[in-house]
Amino acid sequence: MSTPEKRSNVIEIHWEHAISWSVLGVLSLLLGLLILRYGLYEMDLFSVRLDLTSLSWPLLAAAPLLFAYAVYRALASRQEPSYTALCSYCSHEMVFTEQPQDDFVCDECHRRVPVVEGKILEVTGVTCGFCGGLNYMSEKTQVLICEECDREIPLLDPETGEMRHVPKGFARVDDENLYELVLVDSGREREEVINSLQHMLALNRNQVKAMLDEMPVTLLTGINRRKAEMLSAQLESSGATAERRVIGETPAP
Ligand SMILES: [Zn+2]
Ligand SMILES: [Zn+2]
Repeated sequence: MSTPEKRSNVIEIHWEHAISWSVLGVLSLLLGLLILRYGLYEMDLFSVRLDLTSLSWPLLAAAPLLFAYAVYRALASRQEPSYTALCSYCSHEMVFTEQPQDDFVCDECHRRVPVVEGKILEVTGVTCGFCGGLNYMSEKTQVLICEECDREIPLLDPETGEMRHVPKGFARVDDENLYELVLVDSGREREEVINSLQHMLALNRNQVKAMLDEMPVTLLTGINRRKAEMLSAQLESSGATAERRVIGETPAP
């Protein structure tokens, strides 16, 4: 699928055509008139008569056709359909000639706006666990590179709980144990923690709130060390405290 055409570009092309065809129209009209006016030579000396005026007729006939085509292109530019799409990041309005079927780049924020089957996907904010920068992801995002520190932010698929893409350096699992992740303190930024938990666990707001009411609470269990580390880092960046516990071991008192 191709990226959608911006309406302004399509209109510009129409106008470029309209202008160049009308310039041709003017040229052929002028040339036709010139030949008509000066095309007849009579040289008395040799009694020769040279008549070029007949060459002017095709030119004069072509001129209105060229103009007509120019006008047609100019009018066609007005009839281009218009479809307005909002950038999911900055709400900038983009006008296309058809409903975008594929991702497009926003003119305003230069981010790639995700589109699936003609539907513009919502984006959600994700805080980078490394630098704390705010980033955005959609259902379509497989790999998320932090806009501020250029590091890859690990993404969990809310449906499977698996990593969507394993960043380099995250792949090595040097620990065969399975872990559970226990939230012990939600910190002061309760809202932020609720948001990250909603993303992390694919729960709704009320479910997350209910969990926070009975801390410590086991968020996930049976995950590997990398995942547990990554999630607890994410929670810590939202101000919460989470503990990784090896399953089967009781935490030291
Ligand atoms: Zn934008
Ligand atoms: Zn970052």
